[in-house]
Amino acid sequence: MSDDRTIEADVGVVGAGPGGMAAATKLAAAGLRVVVLDEGQRAGGQIYRQLPNGTNGHGLMAEPPSHDQGHELIKSFEKQTERNVELIHGATVWDAQPGRLWFEHEGASRLLRCRHMVLAPGAYDRCIPFPGWTLPGVMTAGALQVMIRGFGVVPGKRALVVGSGPLLLPTVTSLLGAGVEVVAALEASSRWQALRALPAVALHAARRREAFWYLKQLSRARVKLQWGWTVFACEGDGRVQRAIIGKVDRSGRPRRGTERTIECDVVGAGFGLVPSIEIGLRLGVASQFAATRGGHYLVVDAEQRTAVATVFAVGEICGIGGAEVASAEGELAAASILREEGGAAIDPAVVARARSERRAADSMLRAFAPLPGLHELARPDTIVCRCEDITKLAAGQAAALHGESMRAIKVGCRAGMGPCQARICGPSLQAMATDNTACTMDLPVVQVPLKPVSSETILTAPE
Ligand SMILES: Cc1cc2nc3c(=O)[nH]c(=O)nc-3n(C[C@H](O)[C@H](O)[C@H](O)COP(=O)(O)OP(=O)(O)OC[C@H]3O[C@@H](n4cnc5c(N)ncnc54)[C@H](O)[C@@H]3O)c2cc1C
Repeated sequence: MSDDRTIEADVGVVGAGPGGMAAATKLAAAGLRVVVLDEGQRAGGQIYRQLPNGTNGHGLMAEPPSHDQGHELIKSFEKQTERNVELIHGATVWDAQPGRLWFEHEGASRLLRCRHMVLAPGAYDRCIPFPGWTLPGVMTAGALQVMIRGFGVVPGKRALVVGSGPLLLPTVTSLLGAGVEVVAALEASSRWQALRALPAVALHAARRREAFWYLKQLSRARVKLQWGWTVFACEGDGRVQRAIIGKVDRSGRPRRGTERTIECDVVGAGFGLVPSIEIGLRLGVASQFAATRGGHYLVVDAEQRTAVATVFAVGEICGIGGAEVASAEGELAAASILREEGGAAIDPAVVARARSERRAADSMLRAFAPLPGLHELARPDTIVCRCEDITKLAAGQAAALHGESMRAIKVGCRAGMGPCQARICGPSLQAMATDNTACTMDLPVVQVPLKPVSSETILTAPE
């Protein structure tokens, strides 16, 4: 491969998480040249995030059983990087056309040309604004995990974990592993709503083992999961010092009068994940909406192929599902590409594994559908778009004046026009601005650059 600004590969992969690694490893083992672009510092993606090379992080994390598979996957992937895979880390993909991926790397503007593409850029946290959520010390559950597992940084001394869905558990164990006291873990869904996940967990050996492992860690640290509770507000002088927590009803609506105050210096809020579909949309890939899959996700056929020839998609961008789904779909996408390249027919076991992992994840996540009543946590003066400092009231006024579509609200008050490109406010902006109780949202309008990069990068992009 040339070290020019433009590089060539048989297959370009976006994302070195389980989906991207599984695809790249299989493709490279079959002799194809693969370039993997990832904005992180090392392979692993979100779930198997590793400390940067040469970091003296404490690495105190106790890991669940499934991470053994992750270590194996990373090992196989890294072995291929000595042969047919080039991993370019610190590479941010900011534009795409079929066969071409533009990315920024070490301040330089670069282009990857490839015959096939596998998109595996994962997901990001769903934020639900509440009074005080912009105070220092309040962050998403994902950000807490990145701090601890990606940088070895201990975020505080006393943490409150709130939100909904399976990711609350690894957030609690990451904090415990870093020596942080977890003062409470609040799941907004009721115990009865969550019980709907039980058959999917009980029938899936790996998920069952995983659930037991997490519950054992929580019980050892005497952290009780409180069902039907969430954070109502965070307060403090310059940073979070206390949280007001309370009960919510089955739709997530706060039950006023149940409030209690908890002293804490860190709050991790994780209300689920949203698929990162921007690159797919830019390429013209079709999408669908399902609240239980995290919102809009990319549509693929039974072999992970999108409607755009040569573009495949795997993992969280095809709907939130977890690492097992991502790696199974990554392998399937690789098998599809290899067959197109004249290789063997796809092993039916590979198709079956991807389909059964996806089915199991879908039925588990149905129990943690987004709760529309949580949008009532924000008060009129609560900031909903933190890039542009737009309050719930201002977003509501824009919707009343200009219309209830995402575009009308954006144009009316600039919400969603800042550097996060609506990743933070977008998933709940329409529900908050219009006081409707649905968790739907318009398909995001995709703008280039897909992620913030310097204007120099855009102006000097190779053709
Ligand atoms: C912050 C966070 C923490 C999580 N922690 C856990 C956990 O502890 N346990 C668990 O079971 N699940 C966790 N998840 C869920 C996780 O998304 C899946 O379980 C699994 O990692 C999905 O695999 P994937 O291959 O689809 O994507 P990911 O693992 O998310 O990998 C996607 C990769 O793409 C890269 N990327 C994204 N956009 C670009 C771009 N434009 N240019 C270049 N690179 C890009 C990212 O840096 C990332 O490394 C977490 C999710 C998030 C968002």
